[in-house]
Amino acid sequence: MTQQEKLEKVSEHFKNAYGQKIRPRLGNSMPINYMQERQTVSFILHPELKETAYAMGQIIGKGVCSEKIRGKNLSEIMDSNKPIASADGYAFEEIVEADDLHAVYRHYECADCYGIPNIGEKICVYEAGVASGMFSEALGKHCRVREMKCCANGDEYCEFLVEVGEE
Ligand SMILES: [Zn+2]
Repeated sequence: MTQQEKLEKVSEHFKNAYGQKIRPRLGNSMPINYMQERQTVSFILHPELKETAYAMGQIIGKGVCSEKIRGKNLSEIMDSNKPIASADGYAFEEIVEADDLHAVYRHYECADCYGIPNIGEKICVYEAGVASGMFSEALGKHCRVREMKCCANGDEYCEFLVEVGEE
């Protein structure tokens, strides 16, 4: 099986699994420290994985999430995306500003980084990649998403900058 075939197989699986109970007895929930510890230690030991995580997030965001968000422009897309973060238990999302070319939003109690000590790193690159994939797909134009503030960098929340048309 090629890498592409494996990716397509896994993407299809998670697309179908969205909202479904994956494990019959234990369900889908587990403490977030499992994900936080693996991801954080991986990024400390292999910082180059951040770029990979962003690219992974874009694939997942395009394939899995774009069907749930709608809008004619970035501002409308941001509004339709906003409730998903808290509904999925991922974070509380606040949109700080949004126009046709850029947006700024914050995540409070982010699943990836909330509670992690200040290690001087912004680590929510996977989340930024998912947002990039979702917004790009919904808008039909490429959207770059960068994390500007992060709890693992000593900030009280994560803050993301969305730029339409930037690679
Ligand atoms: Zn963060």
